[in-house]
Amino acid sequence: MHEVAPELQCLFSGKIFKSLESNLEYMRVHYSFSIPQGEYCNDKAGLLTFLHQKIRAGHQCIYCDAGFETEEACRKHMLDKNHTRIGTEGRSRTGAYSEEATKELQAQLAPFYDYAASFRDLNNISENDREAGNCKRQK
Ligand SMILES: [Zn+2]
Repeated sequence: MHEVAPELQCLFSGKIFKSLESNLEYMRVHYSFSIPQGEYCNDKAGLLTFLHQKIRAGHQCIYCDAGFETEEACRKHMLDKNHTRIGTEGRSRTGAYSEEATKELQAQLAPFYDYAASFRDLNNISENDREAGNCKRQK
């Protein structure tokens, strides 16, 4: 069976593209999908692969993390609720903001980001504030 590279496939419609860029552009136009803080994302292909796995294997919404019986039910939920983007704020089962769930979401995304780049920017502004590189940004 021929496997399509996940980064070339739309997360929501399954449409296949020739490049990662055209896939991202399609998802942006049709689903308002974008990679949060994309300028710091240094592994967009890896991030998209992770999101595909989350939907296909985990049947989990990429925005609210809700789990479903089937991949189809999961996709239907994302389209019905406009959950066609990456969640960066976690919520508890009751829908309230949850700091714990937020940290978990951010930890899931962290491997695909080069936050060191943003810390270098910060250090340029404040030379004395070298500690900044060791702190997780709260936003
Ligand atoms: Zn959702």
